[in-house]
Amino acid sequence: MINRLFHIVALTMCTMFFFTSITYAKPTVYILATGGTIAGAGTSSTQKTEYKSGSVLINTLLNALPEDIKEIANLQAEQVFKIGSQNMQPEYWLTLAKKVNSLVASKEVDAVVITHGTDTLEETALFLNLTVQTTKPIILVGAMRSSTSLSADGPKNLYDAIVVAANPQSANRGVLAVMNDTILSASDIMKSDTTAVQTFTGINTSAIGKVWGKNVFYLNTVEKRKYSTTPPFPITSIKALPQVDILYGYAGATGKAVDSAVANGAQAIVYAGVGNGNFSDSVEKSLINASKKGVVIVRSSRVPYGATTQWNEVDDEKYGFIASWWNNPQRARIIIMLGLTKTKNKQELQKMMLEY
Ligand code: ASP
Repeated sequence: MINRLFHIVALTMCTMFFFTSITYAKPTVYILATGGTIAGAGTSSTQKTEYKSGSVLINTLLNALPEDIKEIANLQAEQVFKIGSQNMQPEYWLTLAKKVNSLVASKEVDAVVITHGTDTLEETALFLNLTVQTTKPIILVGAMRSSTSLSADGPKNLYDAIVVAANPQSANRGVLAVMNDTILSASDIMKSDTTAVQTFTGINTSAIGKVWGKNVFYLNTVEKRKYSTTPPFPITSIKALPQVDILYGYAGATGKAVDSAVANGAQAIVYAGVGNGNFSDSVEKSLINASKKGVVIVRSSRVPYGATTQWNEVDDEKYGFIASWWNNPQRARIIIMLGLTKTKNKQELQKMMLEY
């Protein structure tokens, strides 16, 4: 009897050990560095002189993290670009998305963290969200203060991003961004303050989670579009992206900017109109002409919150315009760029605006 009991206890302990070691197996987090203020350096720690984005290499940034990061994940790192994200380009998105796509396809990689400038972080996040095929965590991270400034936020943000990436709860949530203890979804994120460390916010919803030390808390799951193994625009099928321009509305705007965008080869124009995507009669005339020439016109808004709706002051159906709904101009541009790789059909493009 005692012998049997011993066997049961021994077997249970072995099983527990087995599961324990599976549950806590350290994931491999692959870090792709692109530059930004997180990798910025300057001569003054108090912003008396300018600093240069993207000048510090990823290995230096990783060396600045506390030693215990090694308990959380096995880290591998690669320097992809060394740019301020104001210089991010559609071709770079293609390169980055292909790289991420092939990394997440590998059994050796459990999650990807991308260090990125904050200026266009939300655009890269959305692009990857719509093109990369995986359920594994993909986390973008940046910083508002350069690595040489007083109270630099980069090391903490990078640490947190790795913690979030290594956490199994972060899978199947689409591309995420981690900054200032906060986790946001690529499906609803915008930079909202030019200088504050708490700059990223949801446009129409709130943050989806928080990170505290080594703990990750998902507080809600409001992201509009979950990752699936079939992204709407698989990166493997995209060769090039069309030229899509954004134009900004204001009192007294004329249609000249629209005419020149068309003359310069824009295949679509996102007009950041006033209010609920409105524009002056002069702008409207030029947009109608552009639309007749086959240029896709998207009505969005310079107002940061709320939707640019169909069926308001502008007759979208009559002129073949598309309303951006919950997407601000920079998001609408990405959706149209990707949408145009599939179709020029206005109804289908309108549907994409509502879906993504
Ligand atoms: N200009 C920088 C960039 O986007 C700003 C930052 O990273 O916060 O690269």
